[in-house]
Amino acid sequence: MSTTFESSESQCPLCGTEQVQGYYEAEEMMIGLRERFRYCKCSGCGSLRLMEPPADLSKYYPSEYYSYDWKAVKEGYATRLKRAFRRLRVLSVLEDPSTLGKIANLVRPAPKQIECLKGLGISRDDFILDVGCGVGAIVNELANAGFKHVRGIDPYLSKPILYDTGAAVETAELNELPRREEWDVIMMSHVLEHLPRQHERFEEVRLRLRINGLFIVRVPLVDSAAWEKYGVHWVQLDAPRHFFLHTRKSLAILSSKHGFALQSVRYDSDAFQFWGSEQYLNGIPLMHHQSYARSPRQSPFSAGQIADFSRRALELNAQGLGDQASFAFRRIN
Ligand SMILES: [Zn+2]
Repeated sequence: MSTTFESSESQCPLCGTEQVQGYYEAEEMMIGLRERFRYCKCSGCGSLRLMEPPADLSKYYPSEYYSYDWKAVKEGYATRLKRAFRRLRVLSVLEDPSTLGKIANLVRPAPKQIECLKGLGISRDDFILDVGCGVGAIVNELANAGFKHVRGIDPYLSKPILYDTGAAVETAELNELPRREEWDVIMMSHVLEHLPRQHERFEEVRLRLRINGLFIVRVPLVDSAAWEKYGVHWVQLDAPRHFFLHTRKSLAILSSKHGFALQSVRYDSDAFQFWGSEQYLNGIPLMHHQSYARSPRQSPFSAGQIADFSRRALELNAQGLGDQASFAFRRIN
């Protein structure tokens, strides 16, 4: 994996401002390599950007980073009961919230990528594309719930897969798809921040979305309480995998420049911003055996602390200060 990068030393590639608010050094802490990477914060839009990305990024994306276990996804739909449960859950979020559906979502909540489609008037006839879909967990959820035209693409998928649910996933990047205005919804969940050339990404989406179509972007946000509290130890900074940490302002600039209007924002941060950042502060990488991600019992956190982190995350989301959100942009021209 290699990448060309806009020169970011002098000018913010998002808003064009030359002034820098501050420079930071963050360590690689997901794997725990502890190599240092420089970021700078733009005075104009408040975004954070990686200044000198490594030429070869592949060592920062270990194979276990990707959840490319398509057999596990298939297993999730193996019985009639499993399919019915998943269908009930998704339709309760996206259409009518039935009592049974609400219970299903309490027992096992629908993925956040489904939640972020709520209230946007998405119909089962819409053409929906998930960019950076992994093995297609979300397109399967939708196809199983009766959405007829769902497709996922991911450049790191080893082979295309057509699931029994009707969901199709293939190995591709968005710019390899035809420039036809054929999609009603294009989703990117925690993908954009990994990519160089942010303006091009918005343009690539615009050229493939129908007028009035929706671009759903989920990203970490640096204008958040977690960044303010933890700084370079903030878990979602994720050096050097994250090239850009956006703010509401930087996304507003990008989206309006490329013909989009913001329809809604949904904050969906969770306990991760606290336990992950606390771990980094105390030198525990995300993939370490004592990490909460690996073993809650060996981790430094009690169940009570995690519950408290979750409560605080909900409060921050309500205040618009959570460290991640999903933005629904509508293509207006
Ligand atoms: Zn900027």
